Amino acid sequence: MSTRNFDLIVLGVGMAAVNAANKCASAGWSVAVVDELPYGGTCALRGCDPKKMLRRGAEIIDAARLMHGKGIEPNDIAINWPDLVAFTQTFTDKMPGRIENGLESNGVTTLHGKARFVGEDTVEIDGEGQFQANHFLIATGAKPRTIDVPGSEHLTDSTEFMRLDALPERILFIGGGFISFEFGHIAARAGSEVCMIDRGERPLKGFDADLVERLVARGEEVGVHPPNARARSTSHFTNASCATRWKRPAFRRKGAGPVKSKRAC
Ligand SMILES: Cc1cc2nc3c(=O)[nH]c(=O)nc-3n(C[C@H](O)[C@H](O)[C@H](O)COP(=O)(O)OP(=O)(O)OC[C@H]3O[C@@H](n4cnc5c(N)ncnc54)[C@H](O)[C@@H]3O)c2cc1C
Repeated sequence: MSTRNFDLIVLGVGMAAVNAANKCASAGWSVAVVDELPYGGTCALRGCDPKKMLRRGAEIIDAARLMHGKGIEPNDIAINWPDLVAFTQTFTDKMPGRIENGLESNGVTTLHGKARFVGEDTVEIDGEGQFQANHFLIATGAKPRTIDVPGSEHLTDSTEFMRLDALPERILFIGGGFISFEFGHIAARAGSEVCMIDRGERPLKGFDADLVERLVARGEEVGVHPPNARARSTSHFTNASCATRWKRPAFRRKGAGPVKSKRAC
């Protein structure tokens, strides 16, 4: 079997890969990229960009409600979820072709398939054969972690969330990171009842506690709840909810008393 050789092979074609591949190709290196999925990676196809389009819908609802009584009647305004999802796809569907054309016009060889190392300087790509390189860039991104809990067969991930035909009436978000918060706030504006759980003392622990406190309070106003009595009453949420508490963020104003934990269950 003949093996093609490159200066650089980039594994994965997300944003990290595209930047590196284009820069190295522009500097005169022979470069190939490979992805097992359509080009674009998480940000362009399954993350930041389509999420921002969903978020725009939620922002419009929110802005109208905040103007209630100030000249705007927001009562008839609503998110049409299937239409909003279809709108995100008008953007994401075009991205793989655009990205591939951009790479090719810059002299990058574009390959498709799952890559795996079969030697120190050789990868095998399903359907394409073996390729050697002097350098490899592993830009294969991250995958959602599976959780070994009863009922995990009911879980979905952010990629599937953004493709749902209809939003469930009630949604439990597991993990209080920024993606949960963004999606939780979007879902609440779209009319779902949202409950969010996090194993830590407070969600968004990498973010400023005072801002998180305001966000959590705002979430409760608009229907993004920490685990509470309502969630406990739903049988397959029970174990997860009761194992979890949120403390209020450890933010103290000058002269304020000690921070009290807020029990969720
Ligand atoms: C829902 C969501 C919202 C987000 N929102 C934001 C945001 O607003 N702002 C922000 O900065 N970040 C955001 N992020 C994070 C951001 O999307 C990622 O940090 C970024 O996309 C990572 O880029 P990457 O190029 O490293 O990897 P990825 O874009 O994940 O690309 C990796 C690619 O490698 C491919 N691959 C993996 N293994 C193989 C293999 N063996 N062979 C061939 N190909 C393989 C995969 O198919 C994938 O296409 C969000 C993420 C998610 C999930």
